[in-house]
Amino acid sequence: MLLIPCPYCGARDQTEFGYGGEAHRARPTDSDRMSDAQWAHYVFMRKNTKGVFAERWVHAAGCRKWFNALRNTATDEILAVYRMGEPPPGGFTDGLPTPAGEPAIGSGNDGSTVALGAFDPGAGGDRP
Ligand SMILES: [Zn+2]
Repeated sequence: MLLIPCPYCGARDQTEFGYGGEAHRARPTDSDRMSDAQWAHYVFMRKNTKGVFAERWVHAAGCRKWFNALRNTATDEILAVYRMGEPPPGGFTDGLPTPAGEPAIGSGNDGSTVALGAFDPGAGGDRP
């Protein structure tokens, strides 16, 4: 059982929450000028971080408010929660090393970069 500390209600069981994916993803302001590949990258590609990851959660069976959390995906430990619109606490920046110090390549930390290259039509991807 995972206890998630809602910033509005306090700690509750994870069954009360819904996962919203990667945090701090802003919708592109120039989407009308984006290529299909760029739009697909925005819509579908997400980081697959092993280690500290900023993600969105909603307290669906409680206050129904969205918030952000810093979670260590390797240990499932919630390190911090903060309200939408607030910066991550502690000066968190993306790309922190994994807990075990694995290299970026092959550890899952490079998922979006590797997948983008594999599906890039100009790079000989699987599209005709
Ligand atoms: Zn709540």
